[in-house]
Amino acid sequence: MDEKLLKQYAEFAVKVGVNPQKGQTMLISCSVESAFFARLCAQAAFEVGARDVVMKYTDDQFARLRMQHADVQTLEDVKPYVLRSYLDYAESEGGVCILNIHDSDPEVFKGLDAEKIARATKARREALAAWREYTMKDKVQWSIVAIPGPAWANKVFPGQADAEEKLWQAIFRVCRVQQGADVTSAWREHLARLEARRDRLNELRLESIHFESGNGTDLTVGLADSHTWEAAGGRTPEGYEFLPNIPTEEVFTAPHKDKVEGVVHGTKPYVYNGEIIDGFWVRFEHGRVVEYHAEKNEGLLGHLLDTDEGARHIGEVALVPASSPINQSGILFYSTLFDENAACHIAFGAGYPGTVKGGNTMTKQQLAALGVNDSLVHEDVMIGAADTTITGKTKDGQTVALFQNGEWVF
Ligand code: ZN
Ligand code: ZN
Repeated sequence: MDEKLLKQYAEFAVKVGVNPQKGQTMLISCSVESAFFARLCAQAAFEVGARDVVMKYTDDQFARLRMQHADVQTLEDVKPYVLRSYLDYAESEGGVCILNIHDSDPEVFKGLDAEKIARATKARREALAAWREYTMKDKVQWSIVAIPGPAWANKVFPGQADAEEKLWQAIFRVCRVQQGADVTSAWREHLARLEARRDRLNELRLESIHFESGNGTDLTVGLADSHTWEAAGGRTPEGYEFLPNIPTEEVFTAPHKDKVEGVVHGTKPYVYNGEIIDGFWVRFEHGRVVEYHAEKNEGLLGHLLDTDEGARHIGEVALVPASSPINQSGILFYSTLFDENAACHIAFGAGYPGTVKGGNTMTKQQLAALGVNDSLVHEDVMIGAADTTITGKTKDGQTVALFQNGEWVF
């Protein structure tokens, strides 16, 4: 591993991804295996004036042991300090920001009781709902970056001795981290391109968009009232900018939760609760999934959709061309952070309040009245194919071509 590139990546993740301010505390969520990288990130945060850095270490192998052996009531009993370990910082002077370092084994819970996992996950989501508000509404700067863990690398490059090194190279490439290049200015150019697309879509004032593809996808997605298209960067109420996802290739908005009709086929396997769902399709009526099928782990897809009423509706629709560098890499990452940036996607569950005008200061009721979905989950699933055609219908009834053969028309 090239130490210089590693340091560059950590500095980029902190300084541009999270952008901690003087006097803020930065929380880092990271597995014990990746502590070496978390330390580099902590160093970068102190350099730019963070008051403190707090490590929240996780451990995949222990998480599996616990999921296997602890009874479900124990797993559902999420103690109040877990929420307080976030809110104590969020509510304190100077405030908080958070960096999630992702290196998880995509199949960490493979073969375990799906029902138990679903209940434990749901309880944790419920317990942390007050903290999730901070990130969903961009009240704090937050960012997710990935580094290879051994199990993950082995899933992406099975049986290859240098799997981890290969995954590092792939991550650096799609994250625009290159020897001798200025990562930050490469990203500025990339973000400017995404923002131009976002502005163009907002000018069109669309009412709905329609996806069609040879795999059988025929889906109309009505958009939320006063929706806005967004790209890449987030901004807190204080005006601090951050990049929630590294990498990012998408332009996205809020669908209307009750105005989605038709059938859509998944085009990439998708990791949920430590297992892989593959070869799936769902059918919507009045925004609700009324029928679904998956070749692999259909039951797990059912658990996801049954989390709550909102999990049967969608909260995000995102456009990503087939020429995205992540798709062009030809690598299936088995990680939503990457794979969602390789294809157009929709998300089962909650919408981002920031994808309707003024949404970040609205109540749940106000958001629902505009059609923004609410749920404990937000799960991106990939639906874009190489032959995807997307057309938009404007508020004054005109039809506009957006995508042809998987690529932007404009
Ligand atoms: Zn997305
Ligand atoms: Zn999403």
